[in-house]
Parts: sequence; C-alpha cells; structure tokens
Amino acid sequence: MFVSKRSPNLIIYRHRVEENASTVVELCKSLGIKIVGVTKGVSGNLDIARAMIRGGCYFLGDSRLRNIANLRANGIKAPCLLLRLPKPSEIDEIVLLANCSLISMPETVKLLEEACCIHHVSHDVIVMVDVGDLREGILPYEVEKIAKFLKQCKRVHCIGVGTNVGCFGGVLPYYRNLSELVNAGNVLEMLLGYPLGVYSGGGTSSLALIENKDMPTKINQLRIGEAILLGSDTTRRRIIPYLRQDTMVLEAEVIEVRKKPSIPIGPIGVDAFGNVPAFENRGVRLRAILAIGRQDVRPEGLFPLIDGVNVLGASSDHLILDIEESKEKIFVGDIIPFRVNYGSLLAATTSHYVNIIVR
Ligand SMILES: *Cc1c(COP(=O)(O)O)cnc(C)c1O
Repeated sequence: MFVSKRSPNLIIYRHRVEENASTVVELCKSLGIKIVGVTKGVSGNLDIARAMIRGGCYFLGDSRLRNIANLRANGIKAPCLLLRLPKPSEIDEIVLLANCSLISMPETVKLLEEACCIHHVSHDVIVMVDVGDLREGILPYEVEKIAKFLKQCKRVHCIGVGTNVGCFGGVLPYYRNLSELVNAGNVLEMLLGYPLGVYSGGGTSSLALIENKDMPTKINQLRIGEAILLGSDTTRRRIIPYLRQDTMVLEAEVIEVRKKPSIPIGPIGVDAFGNVPAFENRGVRLRAILAIGRQDVRPEGLFPLIDGVNVLGASSDHLILDIEESKEKIFVGDIIPFRVNYGSLLAATTSHYVNIIVR
C-alpha cells in the first residue's frame, strides 16, 4: 500500500510538552491542586501521554474510551479518567479500562454498578455539576437525587464533584461559579456521610484563577489539555505567557504557485461547505495551493510561520495561501510550516492523512 511519509506532517516536540506540563503542575502544587493531563487534543498520543506523566500529571484524561484503551494496550499504567459522560453501550469496557469517570445521570450510575458487579471490579466517579456553561452536569438542586443513587452503590464510589466551563456556553470560570461547585460538593458530602477527595475545577480556562489568586480553596484538581499541549487558552483568547507555544508544527506541501485575481470570475453560488464566500478585491496576487484541506485541519486555526503569508481558505483537500508578500520565495514542492490552534490540532491528529511525528 502507498503510504506517504512526506506530508502533511504534524511534528510534536515532546520535551516542550513535558516542560509545559511540569510548569503547570508546579504552579498548582503550591495551592494543593493536582493535574489531570488531558490527551484528547492529540487523540491520546502515547508519547505525549508519557510526556504529561513525566511532567508530573498524576492522572491522564481523555474523552474517548478508544484512546484510553490504546493507552492501556501500550502499557501505560497511569490512572485514567474518562472525560465524556459514559455511553451506556460501552459500560463494560469503561469499568475495565478507566479508573474513574465523570457522571451526571442516575441511570448511568446504576449501569456502572451492575457492570462492576459482573466484572468484580470497583469504579470511581466524579459528579459533574453544571454551574452555567450548560454542557453536562446536574443542576445544583439535583444533588439530593444523585446522592440517593450513589448511596445504593457498593462498587461505584463517588470520590468528588467537578465542573466544566468554557466549552459549550463559553462561560468562564471565576470565583463565584466555582464556589457553587464547592457548595454542591459540601451538600453531597453531608448526604453521603463522608468527605469527598476531589473538587475538580475545570480545564485550561481555570488556570487564570490560580494566577489571580482567586481560586476557592477547596478546589484541588484541574483537568488540563490545551495549556500543556499548546501554551494557549482559547476561551480567554490568550497566550499563557509562562508556557511554551512552540510545541508543534504542522507541515504541508505546495502543489501550485500562480498569480491569480483576488475575486472569483463568474456567478457566485455557495462553496463546497455551503457557505457564501466573500472576497476583497486586492488585484492580481501570487498564491500557493497546499495539499491539505478541511478533511485534515480547520483552516481558520492555521497560522503560517513564514512572514507575509496568509491563509485565504480551504476546500476539503486544498489550502489556498496568499504569498504575494511572503518574506521567502515559495516553489512547488516546498513544505510550509504552520502553528495550529486547539481545534486544528484535534482535527489534524484525527485525520488519517496527517503523519504524527514526535521528536
Ligand atoms: C477537554 C476537556 C478538558 C480539558 O480542557 P482544556 O481546555 O483542553 O484544558 C477538561 N475536562 C473535560 C470534561 C473535557 O472534556
């Protein structure tokens, strides 16, 4: 079979990822907060999981059970947290492969308990509490109901509460909404009759609270992906100044270089993805086409590492660049390097067509 080892490539510098993990772990340590290293951004890549562990993460987290299964199959011993609510169709595999999952549905708790009994194992769960982002989680007034189900379990142990922010609704974590999580946890502790070991206060966007010394004291776990992988925080639109952003480079190959007008010629319908394209007339300009497209990346999340080069757009297999003002001369066959954002990284590591090269 033909396998292209040339391009596109995603090059990941694992020592730089490890350095970011270690910086985040040290920053949080002083506040008694431990870090779950989240690998979903790189589709559970083994070398990156190892780099996170070496950097001091005490747990690995991934949203896909398939990625956790792959970590297990390759001898990674670190405890694993399933980040997406369990699918009833995979309950058996979950209790066998993951050490802990995030839950919100009483019926799922029941299924986990049954599966644990069948397989003679135990399983930890963290109750997700929705403090406003409106993705997963019980609402604070539902604590009593979930506590009733948890109390009936012998093999499923509730070890804590957690919340997710900045994902669906774009709600940012701040002192007030994380305090709501702490309050829900206090009520749950009272109902269960024992103290909870884990107060899981969100992901990368929660790091700002640590920097600003605004984190409620009971929060003792964060689940961090983007900050470790890319040194950025998309929901707060910022680069995290004490972390490295040079952790990865995406490379794609030039297949056409040609001067073309900047406005399409002829009647305009919609593009291949149903959008009406808009163009600014900048005259005839030099462009390059690269052999990578929407099937592999989000073009909006690609940032050329050559000065003066701009992404104009992409179809499924072609990325169009404006290179009129490029600081380097570009020819067919050249490899163009890009920085990626989190969305593009997720897509690139999922694409069958992008080689992942860990250095
Ligand atoms: C993806 C995810 C995280 C990690 O978020 P980052 O922004 O990458 O740090 C944490 N928790 C859950 C539930 C997630 O799905």
